[in-house]
Amino acid sequence: MALTQTNGTPHPVEEVENPFESMLSRFQEAAKILDIDEDTHKILVSPAKEVKVNLTVKMDNGRVQVFEGWRVIHSVYLGPSKGGIRYAPNVHLEEVKALAAWMSFKCAVVNVPFGGAKGGIKCNPREMSKGELERLTRAYTFALADIIGPDRDIPAPDVGTDPQIMAWIYDAYSRRMGFSSPAIVTGKPLVLGGSLGRVEATGRGVMVSALAAMGKLGMNPKESSAAVQGFGNVGSISAQLIAEKGVKVKAISDVSGAYWNDNGINIPEAMDYYKSNNLSLDGYKGAEKIGNEELLTAKVDLLVPAAIEDQITRHNADKIQARLIVEGANGPTSAGADTILNSKGIMVVPDILANAGGVTVSYFEWVQNRMGHFWSLDDVYKKEDQVMHDSFEKVYQTSQKYNCSLRIAAYIVAIDKIASTMKLRGVF
Ligand code: GLU
Repeated sequence: MALTQTNGTPHPVEEVENPFESMLSRFQEAAKILDIDEDTHKILVSPAKEVKVNLTVKMDNGRVQVFEGWRVIHSVYLGPSKGGIRYAPNVHLEEVKALAAWMSFKCAVVNVPFGGAKGGIKCNPREMSKGELERLTRAYTFALADIIGPDRDIPAPDVGTDPQIMAWIYDAYSRRMGFSSPAIVTGKPLVLGGSLGRVEATGRGVMVSALAAMGKLGMNPKESSAAVQGFGNVGSISAQLIAEKGVKVKAISDVSGAYWNDNGINIPEAMDYYKSNNLSLDGYKGAEKIGNEELLTAKVDLLVPAAIEDQITRHNADKIQARLIVEGANGPTSAGADTILNSKGIMVVPDILANAGGVTVSYFEWVQNRMGHFWSLDDVYKKEDQVMHDSFEKVYQTSQKYNCSLRIAAYIVAIDKIASTMKLRGVF
């Protein structure tokens, strides 16, 4: 059987569902409940713009390499489009399209005045030098200079990209325009106009959502255990912050494998190890090595998938033992798994709500850049926590009203907001 590599663990190819199809099936379910008209439906399932670029980059060995890149703008009804850029060896158009649509819905759920977009470059950032990454990033920014813009489309970090890459985008765009334009990109380093609290924003939102959901389920964080899949920015910080709230994090993972400690993993120590070990948990001694599937199906109360898409599928959903899943990644649960999780009574706080803390603080960064005035860390945290609490409550109440899952409720909130905006703005 052909195998594909996802997060270090082989999955049979046919298990992986097309992420855009996965998005569509949830969209359709929510659209049916809302009874949206056929025209609105047509508009919302068609991304507004799909741009493909072939980027030519001079590599360190003197040869030229061509990299495929995309930027998909799903919608601009709520404002300029917003969304990260992913550098990954297997990124493809269908994935970028799904991620762009999720950004539209995510911004609508948390009431941030942005549409949705996503970018991707097919490359392996782990195997490229800093110079090659810089030239690739500048090539991408120049190729898209007429598509992106502080009032058009604002990129940010995603899987495989970081504040340094955002700094190069800022610089390349500003040089192309002839003036400094910090609001072109968010997730920048602080000295370049980044926002305090942006680095930890997604993990913080995951923690706030997890606590809100635990409250609804009557779970006490101090008597609960968790498994966190993925140890990048979102996974590691989510693990750290939920551990600080008293949750015993028994399992973590990265591309090198999964790690289990029944007494709870010392997360700050694991983070130090990861940083000193070339961004890898490989060889981590504070826990015993287990498989990725074992982590997902482990006997814990809370599961936080914070790696990549399609990790919880119809093939493993029935084995999941957690009572609560809080999605740090985008699309970690395939549509096929939703029904199984629902029938098992597992509460799932969906990606477009749970990981929306990142884009929320990106919005704060954009606002601060445009004002030229910066907020304290305390202000950022307070505002983010408020947005996450209010959004969770709104989605929760919607799920009660329509007697549906939190995922479908989040889509209902998002589609309702975008569709009513579209109606007022009109279509020509
Ligand atoms: N890549 C992040 C996400 O998927 C952040 C996007 C942003 O801040 O614009 O939500």
